[in-house]
Amino acid sequence: MSNIEIDAKSGFCFGVVNAIKKAEEELAKGGTLYCLGDIVHNNLEVDRLEKLGLKTINHEEFAKLRDVRVLLRAHGEPPSTYKIAKANNIEIIDASCPVVLRLQKKIHDKYDLEKDNNTQIVIYGKNGHAEVNGLLGQTDSTAIVIEKKEDLDKLDFSKNICLFSQTTKPLDGFQEIIDIIQSRMKGDARFEYFDTICRQVSNRIPNIKEFALKHDIIFFVAGEKSSNGKVLFAECKKYNPNSYFITTPSDINPDVVSKTATIGICGATSTPKWQMEEVEAKIDEIRAVPV
Ligand code: SF4
Repeated sequence: MSNIEIDAKSGFCFGVVNAIKKAEEELAKGGTLYCLGDIVHNNLEVDRLEKLGLKTINHEEFAKLRDVRVLLRAHGEPPSTYKIAKANNIEIIDASCPVVLRLQKKIHDKYDLEKDNNTQIVIYGKNGHAEVNGLLGQTDSTAIVIEKKEDLDKLDFSKNICLFSQTTKPLDGFQEIIDIIQSRMKGDARFEYFDTICRQVSNRIPNIKEFALKHDIIFFVAGEKSSNGKVLFAECKKYNPNSYFITTPSDINPDVVSKTATIGICGATSTPKWQMEEVEAKIDEIRAVPV
């Protein structure tokens, strides 16, 4: 019996599954389909879709296009993107994740409600990340992005604060930010926070811990650009020091693949199952070589 297991709870979240399905459906109709930014933070999956006709573009290129179809990926986009599309007669295929769209609306409504009373809208997230850019756009780019607790010095604790989180941030980091803000608030200033972390990602942390503890060796498969890949890999490494981050089967060092060890293969929310299966096949191949 094989002592290799692919983690059934790893792989694409429903937001990414939905975006890829939409892209495949549109590509099947023929013609060019542009995608604004990488559809998923995984070069191999992007390559697969590009072979089917998808063309990845950046925002500068997008602004120059006219009369074409453009897919918006799961991360969502700021209002300015929709304005450009309208002005340039671009047909938008909107694959923004519904969870992200709900968060955008929540931030937009809050901003509208509070913009005249000096409330600071704060987003716990990564500066420059596509989802965060989409969230910032809901506040005319006035929200303050906090990546880590050291950034909290940017806030004025004598004024109201309203805190949201990028969907893929860790729950414990968010709690730490809440605790610090609460302890620093001054006078009558109001502090409100909304837990907007997507459980599709945060539930993976306890799952991956269990999986990492179950095996002697872990191969974690993800693209280098995947934020949740970094978070989940750190968790694997914490509970199983024999954890290796790989992007393709060729990254596997044959010296660490013993014949008897149990091997777990897992990945990020942006890792397709076919990539984990390729890693399994490579391990079988390495093991088949006589010592
Ligand atoms: S992680 Fe959650 S919010 Fe982000 S795309 Fe996936 S399902 Fe949507």
